[in-house]
Amino acid sequence: MGPPGAGKGTQAVALAERINGAHVSTGDIFRANVAQETELGQAAKRYMDAGEYVPDEVTNAMVADRLAQDDAREAFLLDGYPRTLDQVAKLDQILADLDSGLDGVIALTVVEDELIGRLLERAKVSGRSDDTEEVIRHRQEVYRNETEPLLAVYRDRGLLIEVDGMGSPEEVGARIAEALSTRA
Ligand code: ADP
Repeated sequence: MGPPGAGKGTQAVALAERINGAHVSTGDIFRANVAQETELGQAAKRYMDAGEYVPDEVTNAMVADRLAQDDAREAFLLDGYPRTLDQVAKLDQILADLDSGLDGVIALTVVEDELIGRLLERAKVSGRSDDTEEVIRHRQEVYRNETEPLLAVYRDRGLLIEVDGMGSPEEVGARIAEALSTRA
């Protein structure tokens, strides 16, 4: 978990590889569907472009489907999901049905000015339609309102692992590895 620009995607790809698990990024799946102009992509696009969350029922159904696939059976790393309390409840159900569960929830912390700066930098090269300054600021606000409350939920469950997300991707990756090793 972490606000837009915290470096979730970068770290998630590396960590999924390390745990030999499926990397399940809801943002990536939505973008692939938008590019392929699928029905799901059409349903998601206007929300994404506006920096809003895609409706829970759309996202939840997509994740349920993805986690039921073979390559996610042994291990998976969720990137960008859950982001709402409704998604937390639905994820609990999905995992219970699969006889599975979460080992931990990694949250990357980065100060807001740095987040905006990083996203504006990324905007120059990403070509993402949601990387304009106005939408970037809105995404931060949506994160604070909708997603930040989830940190307390996972903290109460003893699953939260907070990691300082400032610094280079390598530094942050090393901190994550360190946090996981002292926990295991
Ligand atoms: P970032 O967190 O950097 O903004 P993502 O690639 O994770 O980027 O997500 C991009 C967009 O995809 C979000 O702004 C949102 O519209 C949609 N999205 C991704 N994950 C979810 C989710 N779990 N619930 C609802 N919408 C989502």
